[in-house]
Amino acid sequence: MRVGFVGLGAMGAHMARNLHRAGLLTTVWNRTVQKSQALAAELGCHAAPSLASVAAEVDAVVICVAADADVLDVVSQLAPALKAGSLVLDCSTVSAQTAQRAAEMVRGSEFLDCPVSGGVEGARDATLVIMAGGNPQAFERARPILAALGKTITHFGPIGSGEAAKATNQIMCAGIIEAVAEAMAFAHAQGLPLTQLVDTLGKGAGSSWYFVHRAPNMIRESYPPGFKVRLHAKDLEICRDMAARFGVTLPVVERMLEVYGELMARGYGDEDISATYRLTAELFGA
Ligand code: NAP
Repeated sequence: MRVGFVGLGAMGAHMARNLHRAGLLTTVWNRTVQKSQALAAELGCHAAPSLASVAAEVDAVVICVAADADVLDVVSQLAPALKAGSLVLDCSTVSAQTAQRAAEMVRGSEFLDCPVSGGVEGARDATLVIMAGGNPQAFERARPILAALGKTITHFGPIGSGEAAKATNQIMCAGIIEAVAEAMAFAHAQGLPLTQLVDTLGKGAGSSWYFVHRAPNMIRESYPPGFKVRLHAKDLEICRDMAARFGVTLPVVERMLEVYGELMARGYGDEDISATYRLTAELFGA
């Protein structure tokens, strides 16, 4: 199977490398051309000049771009040139409705929403959690591709159900990153040895992926992406809209949209979400 990869950002570049290791990657494309040319030179694959040429060259396209409008833009350019029966796997985090619209745009091909969790480390180490929605036969055909990217791969149901599962995950991430940032500001104010604290509590009942992997950013007061504040804010807007369909407002989602709004207003939208510590540290006068 010949696979093309679209969107070589913090996640996508690692994921493309893992498809290359699995012997599947033939073609890459990125909006900023220098990134696709550099990765193609590194891996010895083809940097396609356009999305149409990606579609024409491969049997499956994996997409990992930023937000809903970006996915629809990419898919609209791929669609006319896709081979009949080809697979389109979107690993971006977008709404279930966007996944359904994208699927309608690629009739004649099979679309699967396949958002991922596990951070840039999971993308690098091919240990991503992958939440898929779409035709079950297409999911089975896509399995070798997904197996090259992640370790925990679940088909949740029809198109959009992968994104619904991912939205569920993003609500948990919102509550956890704020709890970690608040706890670390508290611990700092207590004068505790913070590296030992993370090593110890990282094995305790209050631990989480975010505590183990992102509390060290808070100790260093350095927040390289990672998962950008503006991307998680985008996800929480999706969660807000999905809850609103039930007439529900979710307190954790609203709180973190407020926090991220403040960080973005201060110019920190491209930092990792552990930058939440900037605000919790201020509670203690830092
Ligand atoms: P990123 O580093 O900001 O990369 C975004 C990628 O999308 C870049 O390749 C960018 O191209 C491309 N892009 C943006 N708009 C585009 C458009 N209109 N047309 C074509 N390409 C476009 O983001 P990321 O962290 O890799 O995240 C990518 C997706 O994965 C997002 O949906 C995010 O929510 C999700 N995700 C991220 C993480 C994480 O920890 N970072 C974890 C799980 C899921 P340029 O290079 O030209 O800007």
